[in-house]
Amino acid sequence: MIMDKDTAFFGHPIGLRTLFLTEMWERMSYYGMRALLVLYMTGSLTGFNPGMGLSAMDANAIYGIYVGMVYFMVVPGGWIADNILGHQKAVLLGAIIIALGHFTLAIPIEQTFFLGLILVVLGTGLLKGNISTIVGSLYRDNDQRRDSGYTIFYMSINIGSTLGFLICSYLGEKIGWHYGFGAAGVGMAFGVYQYINYRHLLGDAGLNPNDMLDSRRASLISWTKRSLVLMFIVIGLGLFGLISIDPRVFAENFAYFLTIVAGAYFIYLYGFAGLNSSEKKNLLLLFVLFIGAAAFWSGFDQSASSLSIFARDYTDLSIAGFIIPIGWLQFANPIFVVTFAPIFAGIWAHLGRMNMDPSLPLKFAIGLIFMALSFIVMVYAVKLAMVSAPVGMQWLLITYLLQTWGELALSPIGLSAFSKYSPKKYMGQMFGLWFLASAIGGVLAGLLGGDATVDGLNSVQPIFTFMIQYYVVIAIALIVMAYLFKKKESS
Ligand code: GLN
Repeated sequence: MIMDKDTAFFGHPIGLRTLFLTEMWERMSYYGMRALLVLYMTGSLTGFNPGMGLSAMDANAIYGIYVGMVYFMVVPGGWIADNILGHQKAVLLGAIIIALGHFTLAIPIEQTFFLGLILVVLGTGLLKGNISTIVGSLYRDNDQRRDSGYTIFYMSINIGSTLGFLICSYLGEKIGWHYGFGAAGVGMAFGVYQYINYRHLLGDAGLNPNDMLDSRRASLISWTKRSLVLMFIVIGLGLFGLISIDPRVFAENFAYFLTIVAGAYFIYLYGFAGLNSSEKKNLLLLFVLFIGAAAFWSGFDQSASSLSIFARDYTDLSIAGFIIPIGWLQFANPIFVVTFAPIFAGIWAHLGRMNMDPSLPLKFAIGLIFMALSFIVMVYAVKLAMVSAPVGMQWLLITYLLQTWGELALSPIGLSAFSKYSPKKYMGQMFGLWFLASAIGGVLAGLLGGDATVDGLNSVQPIFTFMIQYYVVIAIALIVMAYLFKKKESS
């Protein structure tokens, strides 16, 4: 047999193993720490495991800003990799900064808390998008294995988050918050160690930045340095309390900012980037998907905000006499992803063979309908809790199951849609846009989570009901779009 292709990792290039393990440890640290964040911030100042004593509103807003920033920073992180560092080095630097961030959070004083969060944000900006880009560059243009490469990569995300919830939630909630944060740092350090040792397996995938004249690169580097200095001054002023920030107001403005940036970018690409008519049509499709994704993540990311608070305050967490950590309920999501991903892939393939594969907007609408259903279950659970709390943990588990089905109809498909339908010249930036949808969803999750939990159970039901309505409205809009796209195609 002639082996003309590298198939050493489950039939894929061996470099995928390096990326798989790096992403696994990065997501272990990200989700493990994130599951503790709101609980730590809203935890009371006294007791065996003292928290920060913040209000639910402020804690959720900070959580939203954090998640939003993590995904927003993917955009400048991608730019720096494309033009200056190359993707491989950007991932390395990002991983080191993330580990430093988690270790900073592990210091048991409040003063370093925000510094730790900022480091994780900056590091993730350098790592998350760029590692996803390297996955694609492991394959030649016409290599059929790219899609399944992304599927394997998606598994690493979920194995990582399972480990994170398991380890960080146990240590953080049962022993002390800062042990949980420290464990996230240790996980990321494993990731750094293996990336340094096995980076050579990537060959030249993502090794070099874009070609350009030395003088142009030098001027980009000098602009980047100046922007970084400015950014560090602003961060320093914030950390030393010289500019005061109201988290809620900041989060609201950040949500507007992200929406305007994304909107302006789509308008620029559509009107002024010299795209031909079929590229423009694809861009419209991606815009529609973008709206669906942002709405979807605004519900999904409440797992570590309002749903976590519901788990803590109104859910019976005992199993055979052992009170499980609150964060453990969240590993329902990654476990369901790993279980159901092949089934969903099979369903789409089967429908495809019968020529009935739903169009992309339709799949996104299905994702949102599942999200709406998941919150209908929660509204029911809230009603039960109002009569007598705590309620059983099955409600949250069913909610996560429905959300995972929604995720599988939307997230892996969205990633490959953006790689397939983006104008080729703008590929890197389009991936940035895909993550901007996650950024908008993340901030909205913080804002909605804050509104939902501000007044105990009383405020949950109206906010969740409002969310259900807006998911359904957007889903209907997507279905109409799917119909219009189809009509245009057949005419
Ligand atoms: N669960 C996926 C990940 O962690 C997608 C998250 C997102 O885009 N909001 O990569």
